[in-house]
Amino acid sequence: MIREHTTQIYNEPGKMVMLNAYNGKTDIVFCFSADQEIPYDCRNEQQRAITIQHVNSMGWRVPELLEEVKQTSSFYFDKLCQMKMPSWTKGRVALVDDAGYCASPAAGMGGSLAIGGAAALADALEKSDGDVTLAFQAYDESFRPFIEDVQAQAAMMVNFLILQTEEAIRARYDQ
Ligand SMILES: Cc1cc2nc3c(=O)[nH]c(=O)nc-3n(C[C@H](O)[C@H](O)[C@H](O)COP(=O)(O)OP(=O)(O)OC[C@H]3O[C@@H](n4cnc5c(N)ncnc54)[C@H](O)[C@@H]3O)c2cc1C
Repeated sequence: MIREHTTQIYNEPGKMVMLNAYNGKTDIVFCFSADQEIPYDCRNEQQRAITIQHVNSMGWRVPELLEEVKQTSSFYFDKLCQMKMPSWTKGRVALVDDAGYCASPAAGMGGSLAIGGAAALADALEKSDGDVTLAFQAYDESFRPFIEDVQAQAAMMVNFLILQTEEAIRARYDQ
């Protein structure tokens, strides 16, 4: 659909289309912002209809791209959300990655947070000499600043990708 190893982005206020070409295929990503939580059943075709309904008035190559959306067998839909918990541990249970501190796909870091979080927890357990309370406290203190930074950057990325006004879109392309 576009040249291999390139990305193209098209914006309209509150909506964005991104094409990513790699390995002989092109991923089509539609993003839109909604004023309210959109209720849907994740086990049926409703998600495809919701996507089409929100973006089908867009210009550029969107009509052609929506034909792909209608027929693809690898359709995925979700909201971009983050998990922010005051504590990642309780008793002898500790959460790692999405369950404790999902940063959303906008971070592009979920895999790294899983490995980094597991390593931080393992380090803390090793150093605490069997004291789980102490270990969990160290896990939280050592890893939370990094998580807060990654989550803040992911939120900024969403605001960068989905611009809300014509002025903001023009300002970006005039840069
Ligand atoms: C569209 C998209 C693109 C992404 N792109 C990237 C990327 O480019 N780079 C990156 O690093 N990360 C990316 N991520 C994020 C990354 O995939 C996640 O952050 C990561 O997989 C989270 O790992 P996890 O182990 O915490 O959770 P998961 O991978 O969700 O694992 C949880 C597991 O628990 C299972 N489970 C759930 N409930 C139960 C239950 N009750 N009993 C038993 N099992 C259960 C689930 O089936 C699942 O296998 C992306 C995510 C999405 C959605």
